[in-house]
Amino acid sequence: KKLGWAIVGLGKFATEEIMPNFKDCQHSRLVALVSGSPDKAQKLAQQYGLQEKNIYSYQNFDSIKDNPEVDVVYIILPNSLHAEYTIRAAQAGKHVLCEKPMATSVHDCQKMIDACQKAGKQLMIAYRCQYEPFNLNAIERIRKGELGKLRFITSDHGRRVKPTEDKADTWRVQKKLAGGGSLMDIGIYSLNAARYFAGEEPVEVTAQIASDPNDPRFKEVEDNVAFTLRFPSGVLAACTSSYSYETVKRGRVFGDKGWLDLDPLSDYDKHTMKIGKPDGKEEPQLKEGNQFAAEIDHLSECILQNKTPRTPGEEGLRDVRYIMAIYESARKGKAIKV
Ligand code: NAD
Repeated sequence: KKLGWAIVGLGKFATEEIMPNFKDCQHSRLVALVSGSPDKAQKLAQQYGLQEKNIYSYQNFDSIKDNPEVDVVYIILPNSLHAEYTIRAAQAGKHVLCEKPMATSVHDCQKMIDACQKAGKQLMIAYRCQYEPFNLNAIERIRKGELGKLRFITSDHGRRVKPTEDKADTWRVQKKLAGGGSLMDIGIYSLNAARYFAGEEPVEVTAQIASDPNDPRFKEVEDNVAFTLRFPSGVLAACTSSYSYETVKRGRVFGDKGWLDLDPLSDYDKHTMKIGKPDGKEEPQLKEGNQFAAEIDHLSECILQNKTPRTPGEEGLRDVRYIMAIYESARKGKAIKV
């Protein structure tokens, strides 16, 4: 059985990455669109063979509750709108997949979890890397002890944000819509990867933030963030996040028997893995997979089988909590217990 999905927000990520990848889904099909732009929605509906009656605006979105073809709503809006639309979707009796970061405050995350729980609907956060074969293979190797005892993790995520050239970057430098800067948007990949590589939750966070005061992009949101996470077993993770260095999306895990590199760790494709051991280096040739289809189908399967998804609302809430602790640590200039 294929569940019916509605997409809320027809921006860059939705139209370029998500909608085209429904073709590889086995348990999910695109049936509805929610948009503030009727022309764009009409055009896309035609392209994807969707019925005109399944196009919604932000105003009449709540009437989606009367549409039995829609089982799941996928929220792909600017960060600060995730909470409102997740809650409205749950109240309309729909399951929800919501983009990262889950929301721009811990309070909003909790409200989203509560609304879905009250409605008896699933809530999953779109941490696509946790459905991506190279990352899953790395996690498996780490858990099996291939690198020995874990000692250290590093991860860097940065790119040059271009608000005047790219419409998708305009809201990213506005605090009200983005919630924060590079950390909320891409540093979250460093944070989430450090946690799934470590396989435990951090107990302490330290951070520094620096932005060029003369760069107009960083009037409202932060640019460079350096943060560390201390885990109970003694593992440390040192991470960076930036909106001004040329694109890097990598992670490295250091164990007492070897290290493992993913570079890129969180791209849409072309991942590579390298492993270093005392007797030399190897580059496992893994098969690239469709992480978008895998992620979407994972939620459909969980709904069909009544199982909790791998990355539920609680996982999104944890990251938003750590992000707030990172901001607090940078602000106060001291370590924050989490
Ligand atoms: P985008 O600007 O291209 O898309 C956002 C859409 O929301 C646009 O169509 C815009 O018209 C619409 N919108 C509705 N109300 C709005 C308002 N009040 N202000 C501004 N826009 C409004 O951005 P995007 O890059 O597609 O990002 C959307 C979401 O997807 C973000 O939460 C982002 O973090 C997430 N994202 C995730 C990934 C990933 O790999 N998982 C990649 C890119 C973006």
